[in-house]
Amino acid sequence: MNKERTPSFIHEVALSVDAKQKRELLTRMDMARMLYNACLGEAQNRLGLVRQSTMFRSAVTMDRARSKERSALFKEANARYGFTEYALHKYAVAGKNRCAIGDHLDVHTVQKIATRAFSAVLMHALGKRGKPRFKGKGQLVSVESKSNDAGIRFRADACQSRVEWGGLVLPIILDRKDKDGVQAHAMSCRTKYVRLVCRSYKGNTLFSAQLVQEGYPKLKSKNAVTSGKSALDIGPSTYALYTEDTAELGQFCAGLKPLHRTLRSIQRKMDRSRRASNPENYNSDGTIRKGNKTWVTSGHYQRLKMQISEIHRRLAAHRKTLHGALANRILAHGTVIQMEKLSYRAFQKMFGRSIGFRAPGMFVSMLRRKAESAGGAVIDLPAGTLKLSQTCQCGHQRKKPLHERWHRCPDCGICAQRDLYSAYLAYHVSNDVLDKESATASWPGAESLLMQAVSRVQHESANAGNSVPQSFGVGRSMSGLPVKGRYPVSDDVDVVAFASMRTREPRKRAVLATPRTPRL
Ligand SMILES: [Zn+2]
Repeated sequence: MNKERTPSFIHEVALSVDAKQKRELLTRMDMARMLYNACLGEAQNRLGLVRQSTMFRSAVTMDRARSKERSALFKEANARYGFTEYALHKYAVAGKNRCAIGDHLDVHTVQKIATRAFSAVLMHALGKRGKPRFKGKGQLVSVESKSNDAGIRFRADACQSRVEWGGLVLPIILDRKDKDGVQAHAMSCRTKYVRLVCRSYKGNTLFSAQLVQEGYPKLKSKNAVTSGKSALDIGPSTYALYTEDTAELGQFCAGLKPLHRTLRSIQRKMDRSRRASNPENYNSDGTIRKGNKTWVTSGHYQRLKMQISEIHRRLAAHRKTLHGALANRILAHGTVIQMEKLSYRAFQKMFGRSIGFRAPGMFVSMLRRKAESAGGAVIDLPAGTLKLSQTCQCGHQRKKPLHERWHRCPDCGICAQRDLYSAYLAYHVSNDVLDKESATASWPGAESLLMQAVSRVQHESANAGNSVPQSFGVGRSMSGLPVKGRYPVSDDVDVVAFASMRTREPRKRAVLATPRTPRL
């Protein structure tokens, strides 16, 4: 396939769909899902055959220095057992033509589905992605075409802009105001291909088209970027930003409401409903019976399920908005951003709930995308060799436990908030090495910036009547002693636990607070 290497961006538009078209689209989505599952299964089988073959085995054990021979052997094994993208295309198209899927889906869409299944299996085989799953009913939510010439197409003429797909004509709902001209700019760009997305919104199914356009998206005037350098330190729920003339400490998605209590209560309702509708599926002690079962779901249960998916949708949409706003604010200080390369998987293992809620990894990938489309970049610094959170600009190194939120150097006496200081050091890294001279030279000016950032956080949260997140460590005195009074336990999803917390909590309450059911 002749891959286009031009930059692209996505402009999403809502589609006006009547009841008949909706039925047809849902049928096509389901056909696409079945075909995806078939391709996934076939690709996994073929990969299994490749791995059993003698060619593959000899290539695996071959000396890595003979890389050309090695990759030729791998390639040959893949070709022999049909573990290639094009072989899977063939399989998918033959499969579609054999059955009713052929009446609903066109060849380009089918090939794209096969590519998707193939790359999912390949990425897993190479250890780059997780294990691909078969998709259940309603779990495949998007289909796309290969180009704008066939399959799903975007067409615009004097009277109407629309998406056409195999006899369906779906008019596009345009933004009439288009205040910032973003839509007008997107529509003036060439469409590379179209992706059709199906989402559930307040219990309804809505369809939209993602137009993959050539070029760069238009920046809103309020999101102007400046070219310059800045440094970022990302924690599981916080970020610290440092540039030449500003420092900022903040929490990811500070305005996002933790709804896990609401979710938990709905999940318990669902569990009760499931037990009431399916008493034969449970043992007398309340555990689920082994063996084959059929589950009956009541209308009440279905409504609760919809409520849950609606909460998740709202949270995700709000999170994305907040991430976007933060990324724009950071890019306003500079489009070249230096930050330590972190393993978000390791984060996930340590602080699962907070990561799921605030999604720092998703934020970083959004920041990277936005920086690149603004002509800048996010530069990954090697965290393993730099160890910024343990290092001082004088060269002193000491491993700090996670609950120690202030950097205090016994050698040179520097004292600063840990995350901000890491960001400050990240700013002074060049060619993956910490430039200690420049860090020391600019410290007198930076110190006050860092202190200002800390006091701004304190003032802002005092004005808003909120508690400062524990992970900032600014609620405690700088001597390192715990602050007098109660710790504000505002938010169960916050992460950094202080060793002192356990001792300050009265024993009796700790016993009483033991949850009766496991918490999610
Ligand atoms: Zn020092």
